Amino acid sequence: MSEKAMVSKDVRPDDIIFNCPQCTKSLAIDPRAAGFTVTCPDCGTEVHVPESDFGLAENLDETVAALRARLAAFENRYVLDRQNIEKIAQEMALIQASVDRTVALLQDILSPLQIEPPSKPFVQ
Ligand SMILES: [Zn+2]
Repeated sequence: MSEKAMVSKDVRPDDIIFNCPQCTKSLAIDPRAAGFTVTCPDCGTEVHVPESDFGLAENLDETVAALRARLAAFENRYVLDRQNIEKIAQEMALIQASVDRTVALLQDILSPLQIEPPSKPFVQ
């Protein structure tokens, strides 16, 4: 389907206003032409008519709402991740303390025998 696009001097309040990608002429067309292809009256190029500004505004509201919801989910996830990292750090400190104690006990056992214990294990 092809409609004749009207130039911007004939613009009506609900018209879709867009530019011809070929000659950059400002074009205005009935919103019912959204999604169709029209012929630019200036250069004759077949031009795809974008969605109306009104529809775009509605979509933007939905997009912003969806992004806010995702941001909130990421913030919750971040808090949970921080709590888990804190728990892991506490577990690591307990493990390190156990390793240190084990090495100290081994040194006590081995030193009378003149045997060197292995170098201190390091828990990262
Ligand atoms: Zn054009």
